[in-house]
Amino acid sequence: MIELTPAAACTLYLGATLAFLLGLWIYHHYSSRHKKIITVAHKLHVCEYCHFAYLAELGKDVTQCPQCQSFNK
Ligand SMILES: [Zn+2]
Repeated sequence: MIELTPAAACTLYLGATLAFLLGLWIYHHYSSRHKKIITVAHKLHVCEYCHFAYLAELGKDVTQCPQCQSFNK
């Protein structure tokens, strides 16, 4: 049977804990690295009439304010 001193048991316990945390960190690091950044296809517009800020799709020349229902260029 393997005999362990209390200091060796404590060192083994701390080493196992650190190895587990390091493995968890490496897994999280590499799994979050491959996530895609999704760019938003909306642009922030400010209404010319009521100064309400809203998001509208890109490429639209005329947008409608959701606050006052006015059309903005
Ligand atoms: Zn408005």
